[in-house]
Amino acid sequence: CGIVAYVGHQNASEIILKGLKRLEYRGYDSAGIALMNDGLNIYKKQGKVAELESFLKDKNTKSTIGIGHTRWATHGAPSDENAHPHFSQSGDLAIIHNGIIENYSSLRKDLENKGYTFKSETDTEVFINFIEDIYKNNDGSLEEAVRLALTKVIGAYAIVVMSKDHPNQLIAARKGSPLVIGVGKGEYFLASDATPIVEYTNEVIYVNDYEIALIKDGEISIRDTKDVKMTPYIQKVDMEL
Ligand code: GLU
Repeated sequence: CGIVAYVGHQNASEIILKGLKRLEYRGYDSAGIALMNDGLNIYKKQGKVAELESFLKDKNTKSTIGIGHTRWATHGAPSDENAHPHFSQSGDLAIIHNGIIENYSSLRKDLENKGYTFKSETDTEVFINFIEDIYKNNDGSLEEAVRLALTKVIGAYAIVVMSKDHPNQLIAARKGSPLVIGVGKGEYFLASDATPIVEYTNEVIYVNDYEIALIKDGEISIRDTKDVKMTPYIQKVDMEL
């Protein structure tokens, strides 16, 4: 189980696939990626990152933003459908998630009562639709919708959310599952640990529990789930590859 995401000026799919391979040691049963070019697209496959790579051979992978995931199934068997990223029902939002949402079945029932349908058995697809439901009804920001959702979910997570409405923006958050952000020049590398990041930059931010990072137009801001603004603490890492 690992996450890798990128936003900047380089080819996101190359950085993400390479990063996912660096995280293979963590163990996983499927892999996937979301990219933005002619729309927000998700490609995912049960099996190794190498299988995802060959699946991507004839696809348009040109994108300067993306999120990638290796899954260790906790809710729903290993399959293409249950692999991450997951779309929200509208297709406007995509999420990658490591961890477990413990109250997903009651959230899922509430969403089903509102007309939401699900393509997978995962807690993660419930999570992104829960965010979408708040987003579509708060006419505010997506960041605020994510924050409100995080005050209601119980469990562990490291997430990164991408959206069609904000093509140069990533929203990331964590509680219990690890998340590191590498800071480059006008570019950001997100991952479960620093191994996919250190070849690009040695400046990293270790996101703390209950923190939400908004990366937008080359800038990063961090607040916590209580809506208190935090000062990003950039550390230097030295790591042998
Ligand atoms: N609970 C999620 C799932 O089963 C995420 C698992 C993971 O951490 O890879 O899809």
